[in-house]
Amino acid sequence: MGGFFGVASKEDCVFDLFFGVDYHAHLGTRRAGLAVYDAQNGFDKAIHNIENAPFRTKFDKNVGTMKGQLGIGCISDYEAQPILVRSHHGTFAITTVGRINNADEIVEEIIKSNTHFFEMQNGEINPTELVAAIINQKENFIDGIRYAQELIDGSMSMLILTPKGIYAARDKLGRTPIAIGEKEGSCCAGFESFAYLNLGYTAVRELGPGEIAVMTADGVKTLVAPGKDMKICTFLWIYYGYPSSSYEGVSVEQVRYNCGKLLARRDNAQPDIVAGIPDSGTAHAIGYANEVGIPFSRPFIKYTPTWPRSFMPTQQSKRDLIAKMKLIAVHDLIENKSLLLIDDSIVRGTQMRETTDFLYASGAKEVHIRTGCPPLLFGCKYLNFSRSKSEMELITRRVIQELEDGEVTEEVLREYADPDGEKYQKMVDKICEKLHFTSLRYHRLDDMLEAVGIDADKLCTYCWNGKE
Ligand code: SF4
Repeated sequence: MGGFFGVASKEDCVFDLFFGVDYHAHLGTRRAGLAVYDAQNGFDKAIHNIENAPFRTKFDKNVGTMKGQLGIGCISDYEAQPILVRSHHGTFAITTVGRINNADEIVEEIIKSNTHFFEMQNGEINPTELVAAIINQKENFIDGIRYAQELIDGSMSMLILTPKGIYAARDKLGRTPIAIGEKEGSCCAGFESFAYLNLGYTAVRELGPGEIAVMTADGVKTLVAPGKDMKICTFLWIYYGYPSSSYEGVSVEQVRYNCGKLLARRDNAQPDIVAGIPDSGTAHAIGYANEVGIPFSRPFIKYTPTWPRSFMPTQQSKRDLIAKMKLIAVHDLIENKSLLLIDDSIVRGTQMRETTDFLYASGAKEVHIRTGCPPLLFGCKYLNFSRSKSEMELITRRVIQELEDGEVTEEVLREYADPDGEKYQKMVDKICEKLHFTSLRYHRLDDMLEAVGIDADKLCTYCWNGKE
């Protein structure tokens, strides 16, 4: 996914920038970067690989040497950024969050104007560089950003650092958020609204879908008004967002709690304890446990001291192993118990099956699994959503393939998305059997939307129902 943060200040902004970006560390595991502009010394930039060490460790030295009154930074799950560009707009730095599905077509079009691109190691063009090139096609930043918003199939939110201020532009349909904060002499913009609260900022507002604003130390000014249509990613509340964040004024922790509560209302399981798979399953489980009056407890504790979030090998099998090693079981809470475990979602199912087998081996009598969202049936095409890169990795798709014994059309998939349909129940039963659960229930889409509580038309639910 990735996240970004920017600060405009009358004083040096590097301290706020450093911690503001650090508070986005849960959104990415590959690259991170900072770019600053100082009125006397111009631009400075640093990018590091954060696959094996956390952001804070990697940027410690840079923070000692960088200075400036304007700065942007990011945690990126894909390309190296922010990038520094010199064009007819002058020198600027840019960082982005999003996904470009039609990159090849756009590259072909832009190359006609004698522009060149550097290829990354995998032969692709750095998506942030591509956004900069699109912006450079137009006379000014505003027209350039609007052009990028129109041209890109996928989604694109960005921060652009210039000597005069920072442009903040939210994706056309607001798939990802941008929240604005301010304090005396400084203004900031970030993906996560909680990132600036402990730095002394107070929340001002969130940019609307497609809104383009410019930020200086004196405040934020809208340059292009927001559009009416919105499709913000619902997964932000279920899994991606940090519990203390809120989007569109709706708290992540509260939504997860509501999801657990509504799951419980439809359930008839009678476990001894209710537990959540840390971290995002925890709030779902508390909501469930409080609703049914069955004790919430922690049969798994996450070992955090030596496992920074960013330590994530690229190989999937190693990632699974690391994820497993981070969780330590508490045998006294497992032996001879009937457990109900809630996770935010089931993607490939491998990890959940291993966890379940381990619980049986540790003496659990029953393992009931519940999820904070409906079955994931479609791969995300709007964000670099690492959990469902290939649709055929999804446990649902593998099971449907088996049940249908042939080609699976989008129409058939939509039938499987109906929680009141026969096909849905067959799929759930099959997944339950394959993963060795005692019982399995997914959250219903209508309940999940109720848990979020904002107009359903404004929420993206594509990965669950295939509706654009
Ligand atoms: S498809 Fe799913 S993960 Fe992607 S933006 Fe929509 S809700 Fe979010």
